Amino acid sequence: EKSRIGVTGLAVMGANLARNMARRGFPVAVHNRTTSKTTEFMKDYGDEGAFTGTESLQEFVDALETPRKIVVMVKAGKPVDAVIDELAPLLDSGDIIIDAGNSHFPDTDRRAAYCEERGLRFMGIGVSGGEEGALNGPSIMPGGPQEAYGEVEEILTAIAANVDGTPCCTHVGPGGAGHYVKMVHNGIEYADIQLIAEAYDLLTHVAGLSAPEIGTIFEEWNSGDLESFLIEITGIVLAKTDEKTGKPLVDVIVDQAEQKGTGRWTAIDALDLGVPLTGITEAVFARTLSNLRDERREASTTLGGPTPGSGKNRDELVEDIRQALYASKVVAYAQGFAQMRAASQANDWDLDLGAMARIWRGGCIIRAQFLNRITEAYESHPDLDNLLMVPYFTEAVANAQDAWRRVVVTATEQGVAIPAFSSSLSYYDGYRRERGPANLIQGLRDYFGAHTYARTDADGKFHTRWSQDGSEVAAD
Ligand code: NDP
Repeated sequence: EKSRIGVTGLAVMGANLARNMARRGFPVAVHNRTTSKTTEFMKDYGDEGAFTGTESLQEFVDALETPRKIVVMVKAGKPVDAVIDELAPLLDSGDIIIDAGNSHFPDTDRRAAYCEERGLRFMGIGVSGGEEGALNGPSIMPGGPQEAYGEVEEILTAIAANVDGTPCCTHVGPGGAGHYVKMVHNGIEYADIQLIAEAYDLLTHVAGLSAPEIGTIFEEWNSGDLESFLIEITGIVLAKTDEKTGKPLVDVIVDQAEQKGTGRWTAIDALDLGVPLTGITEAVFARTLSNLRDERREASTTLGGPTPGSGKNRDELVEDIRQALYASKVVAYAQGFAQMRAASQANDWDLDLGAMARIWRGGCIIRAQFLNRITEAYESHPDLDNLLMVPYFTEAVANAQDAWRRVVVTATEQGVAIPAFSSSLSYYDGYRRERGPANLIQGLRDYFGAHTYARTDADGKFHTRWSQDGSEVAAD
């Protein structure tokens, strides 16, 4: 009997996805470039379901029913192209290659075109939730032709996480749309994590609390508006004692954050699209600043500034920080969704933004109750420009903003860096201004570069002859 689907690439993600499929009753053919990995896989998990272990790509391809559905779960980048190149000549017209790794969306568009030229169908699907998610139910963001999705929908929705009876998987859009949405998901994850880190920094250095005390606060926060996987695990990580030293584990972890690139891609694309994406971008910069460890050490004894330490009521401060975290999080999501909307318009993807929030409710790192509110917002206002404009979020931020401002003031006075809190607040204040200061920017640009300006009281473009008689002329 032929297998319903194949998985090539049996490192942790591919192995777990294949096991997830087999456990749900789908016969799966498995393959890995290094054959010993396949042998090991069959030895360890072969009895979990109907697996066919294969040693060559030809054997792998022959084990699959047609049209073939092949999940490629290899290292992102060149290896994906290498595998496609090897597979393509072995496949028949209409077969489907599914790249389920963390590919950059322009690569997905390119690979889709390459496969189409060869009569093959190509899907780029975002899979979130790490190894645990891949095994037990990830959030899946499939991009590619709708009819190709139809061929794998049964399998993907069966292996995805499930929240309230709804699978965390839906067709996202054509081409690179699935990988794009996965990229923004990861970007939002960066912003969420940075906001949590800033709250932790303030609770440590302004409120003077220890890591386990802060862990308890996060545990409490997880039962309110902030309820989410990331807040939950923050409580757990802060509560952990280091076995070696007996100190809180976080106190012995080096303060340098790494990154694999999806946050950076999100920020770069926001710049390309011209979308203000301050939260995610500041989160990426904060990680890069964290890596200037030697410079920071030197600067810490050279550059002056206040030494943080509370003069305030601790309980009030903790509650203010909670509200600042929530308001900043709303802004980060509003920005991320505004970016997806802009990308959808630029690429004709027709993204259903409410559905994107729905499939992030389970399986993935940013899963949270809060996402239900985003889904509702887009269901009632499908053409919404900005999430801040629906009553639920307008009120949430209005209620939190006094506390949010107090936190930004306190942190600034006491010298604690809060790039995500403060830039989110500046975005909010900039967004709600009917008239900002860009009129002066245009005046300056006209002065030094004759770049022209528009007038509030007339149509068209104008230029002032600054270095001549100072008169204004109409520009074309
Ligand atoms: P890795 O990214 O570590 O990749 C290892 C796999 O790629 C091995 O099966 C390896 O085969 C194969 N491979 C590498 N180069 C080639 C090549 N030139 N030709 C054929 N096969 C090759 O595996 P992961 O499971 O960690 O991740 C897979 C994908 O999933 C990546 O895109 C990753 O970004 C993404 N992802 C990972 C998550 C995670 O938590 N790890 C979460 C979500 C997505 P061999 O054994 O022969 O070396």
